[in-house]
Amino acid sequence: MQLEGKVALVTGSSRGIGKTIAHELAHRGCTLIVHGSKESDALRSSFEDVKKLSPDSIKVAAELSEPAAIDKMFARIKQTFDGLDILVNNAATQNPSPVLELEQEDWDRVLSVNLRAPFLCAQHAGRIMRGNKTGGKIINISSVHAYDARRHYAHYSAAKGGLETLTKSLALELAPYNIQVNSIVAGAIATELTPLDRQEKFLTSVPAGRIGTTEEIARLAAFLSSNECDYITGASITVDGGLTLGFCASRPDL
Ligand code: NAP
Repeated sequence: MQLEGKVALVTGSSRGIGKTIAHELAHRGCTLIVHGSKESDALRSSFEDVKKLSPDSIKVAAELSEPAAIDKMFARIKQTFDGLDILVNNAATQNPSPVLELEQEDWDRVLSVNLRAPFLCAQHAGRIMRGNKTGGKIINISSVHAYDARRHYAHYSAAKGGLETLTKSLALELAPYNIQVNSIVAGAIATELTPLDRQEKFLTSVPAGRIGTTEEIARLAAFLSSNECDYITGASITVDGGLTLGFCASRPDL
């Protein structure tokens, strides 16, 4: 699965899952736009690692709750590259709160970063990709909480639920331009920031008996970025070690 010569934007690739996706794509031959909300050591370090594999890559800092910052990021991409082949909408924020205490400001922030920004990025990317001879790929990083409620995550769940239906709407309307749009529905994935006690909590509730790795998401993202899967569009692929298989799956005693 080679992606030689493709240009890819991975939002939120300064750390966590996005960082591993950016590195996987660079490893397979892509030139990357490495993105973070702001200039930070994490962004610089992720970018330096990518550049070792893919020297023409660039880094961009853009606060995704601000539509003007998204416009600016795409202006830079258009200035720097002839086109864009792959968009991974990965960046997201969370700010857990009991639903009755949830402030409108927090609701708006989570919805703007986790749902409006992927829409705006997909719109910008789609307009570039429709001019590509080889079409394009958009991959939305979603969550099992798009479907399964979690206490104190009403805004996050609503945004991810919206991202799931947005994936299908984009897939439908962009299919004539040979642009495929899919989502990865992630379960519990360990990033450098996941505390060990949270990882341990999942040992019994995940049928696979462990938390997932960022590489397990990144390998699927690379596959969905490739021409191996040009007939897959509008799909939501769950990567959760069986976490959402149902009540009995999470109860080894039953
Ligand atoms: P993470 O480690 O918290 O990293 C988040 C990334 O998004 C960072 O690069 C961050 O940039 C960027 N970001 C956050 N807020 C932003 C904003 N307002 N504007 C621009 N960029 C922003 O996240 P993660 O755990 O890897 O999660 C990545 C994706 O997977 C998310 O969509 C998340 O919902 C999904 N997911 C994760 C899990 C999990 O268990 N980890 C499970 C299911 C789904 P800075 O470094 O500048 O802050």
